[in-house]
Amino acid sequence: MITDGHNHTKHFSPDAGQSIDELISEAKSKGFSRIGITEHFEVEYPEDGLIWTFDLNEYDKTFEKWRESAGDFELLKGIEFGYQTHVADEIDRLAVQIPFDVVLLSVHLFRGKDFYVDRECYQLPAKELHSEYLGMMAEMCEKCNNYDVAAHYDYINRYADNKNDFITYDECPKEFDRLFEALISKGKALEINTKSIQKHKDGGFARFLPDAAILNRYRDMGGKLITLGSDSHNPGTFAVCFNEAVEYLKSLGFKETVYFKDRKPFFESL
Ligand SMILES: [Zn+2]
Ligand SMILES: [Zn+2]
Repeated sequence: MITDGHNHTKHFSPDAGQSIDELISEAKSKGFSRIGITEHFEVEYPEDGLIWTFDLNEYDKTFEKWRESAGDFELLKGIEFGYQTHVADEIDRLAVQIPFDVVLLSVHLFRGKDFYVDRECYQLPAKELHSEYLGMMAEMCEKCNNYDVAAHYDYINRYADNKNDFITYDECPKEFDRLFEALISKGKALEINTKSIQKHKDGGFARFLPDAAILNRYRDMGGKLITLGSDSHNPGTFAVCFNEAVEYLKSLGFKETVYFKDRKPFFESL
């Protein structure tokens, strides 16, 4: 089994529509015995009427209750912090407040704006947009220390209008190399986000699996830690495109992925 290490519930993530019970029963029905739950936490976010933070101690207590009722089904206690330059220290401080199994870091904003809503950034040439976004991913992994996984490096790409604007290594090799250098030197993992794969497929992108050159470069630089996450928010999306992602990684010569428990990587054979 390959663990799906990136999922949200409506109890703590304001944009999620599934309950913990729905998520667990879907995971069980798909043959999984362990999942990671990584609720959104944005230290600062543009006003959108939603609340992107929560009380970490309350989350910790609630999570322990979920664990009790889940029995043998294993729940990994995680969080997904949204990065901006000025909140790096705060993320590092918050990440050790409660005993997490896994801490994800993400870039959900471009120049301080939510590009899901504010489309202005997509006027930029794709190479410029992708380079600047990857530069933020690299900075995040360089500046922060108390994390385990760099999530969805291709998030900016999900909502692109031009379906040929698929993010590639050749567009921004320096930024990818900086990102990988930070991850590898600190023992952190790169996530393959399977929701991105699904979005690109559904959106009619010319390509939808991660650019092979990105993963080959990561491996050639010494990158060994890869996580898979479906980033599920709603029923029916848990572990989406997992089979395709696994076959793809195998075709590139990867032998294993990891999940995190007690902030340590555990390997799973592909
Ligand atoms: Zn995210
Ligand atoms: Zn997420």
